[in-house]
Amino acid sequence: MTTLLTPAAALRRIAFLLERAREPTHRVSAFRTAAAVVDSLPEGELDRRIRTRTLTDLRGIGPKTGAAIVQAHAGEVPEYLARLEEALSELVPLADDVAEFRATLRGDLHTHSDWSDGGSPIREMAEAAIALGHEYMALTDHSPRLTVANGLTAARLERQLDVVAELNEELSPFRILTGIECDIHLDGSLDQTDELLGRLDVVVASVHSDLRAESAVMTERMLAAVANPHTDVLGHCTGRLLVPREQREGRRQRPRPESAFDAEAVFSACVEHGTAVEINSRPERLDPPLRLLALAVELGCQFSIDTDAHAPGQLDWQSNGCERAVETGVDVDRVVNTWTADELLDWTTA
Ligand SMILES: [Zn+2]
Ligand SMILES: [Zn+2]
Repeated sequence: MTTLLTPAAALRRIAFLLERAREPTHRVSAFRTAAAVVDSLPEGELDRRIRTRTLTDLRGIGPKTGAAIVQAHAGEVPEYLARLEEALSELVPLADDVAEFRATLRGDLHTHSDWSDGGSPIREMAEAAIALGHEYMALTDHSPRLTVANGLTAARLERQLDVVAELNEELSPFRILTGIECDIHLDGSLDQTDELLGRLDVVVASVHSDLRAESAVMTERMLAAVANPHTDVLGHCTGRLLVPREQREGRRQRPRPESAFDAEAVFSACVEHGTAVEINSRPERLDPPLRLLALAVELGCQFSIDTDAHAPGQLDWQSNGCERAVETGVDVDRVVNTWTADELLDWTTA
C-alpha cells in the first residue's frame, strides 16, 4: 500500500489493520480516537501543532499516534503503518481462485453502524470499505422491532438518510447506498413503512425471531418476504449460529441449528422474484450451509456475498463467503455485488 494517506486516513488504516490482526480493542480505539481528534481540528491547527511540536498536548493523541500523524502529514507512509502492512502480508494468502473471485466484488450489501448494534460510526465503516478498494457499501442497520439491536424507528431512519446524503457528497466517488436489514414479521410482512422501504437503495430481509418454528410456518413466512417487491436480498437464511457469541451488554448467545424450511420452494421464489440469496460471511454464521448453497446454485439463484460487518475490520470477511462460492460453483456474473453501483441500483429498483 503506497498511496499517500491523509493523517486521519493513515490512523484509520492502522486501526483497521490492528483489528484484523485481532489486537486488543483499546489499542485499536487509540488510533480511531486520534483520527477523530485530527478531523475535529479547525483549519490550520494541525500545521501549527506539528510546527510547534504540541501535537501530543491534545487529548487523545500520544507518542505513537502523534508520530504517525507527523509522518503522514509530511507525505510519508507512517513507519508504524508500513510495519503492520508488512506483517499482515505474511498471513496465509488466499487460494488463487478465491482471491480472484474476491477481487471481482465491488462492494458489500450488509453492514451495520453504531446507529443500531454496530460499534463504529458510518464514516469509519465507509472509510474502511474505501481502504479495501470497494466502490460502495449498503448501510443496513436493523429495523424497529429488533429493540435488542437498537433498531431504527422510521424517524431515526429518516435522519440517517440525511446523514448518508451528506457523507456521500464528501466521500464521492465512493457511495454509501441507503438500506436496512429489515426484520421479517411472523406473518411475512416487513418491519418498516412501505414508503420508507420504497426510498431505500437496498433492502435485506432477515428472520430474527421464532427461529424454531415449524417448517411449513417458516416457509410461508419466508416466501411472503421474498415476494415482497421491496426485498432485494434474503439475509442469513437459516439463522444458524456455529459458535457462541457475545452480544451487546455482555449477553451471550448459544450456538443454534438451522431453521427448518422448504429450501427448494424459498430459493425458487427468490429466482422468480429477483431476490438475491445472501452468502453471509460472518465466521459464526457461514449461512447458507454448503448443501443449501449448492441447491440455490442449481436452481439458478442470484447471490450477494456480504459480511454483515458490525465493525470496520469485519468488512474484510468477504473471503469467507468467496471460498464457499468457489466451492459450490457460484458464477461471478450471478453475484450482484460484482456489479457497478448503477447496475446494482437498476436491479434493486426494477
Ligand atoms: Zn441479521
Ligand atoms: Zn446484520
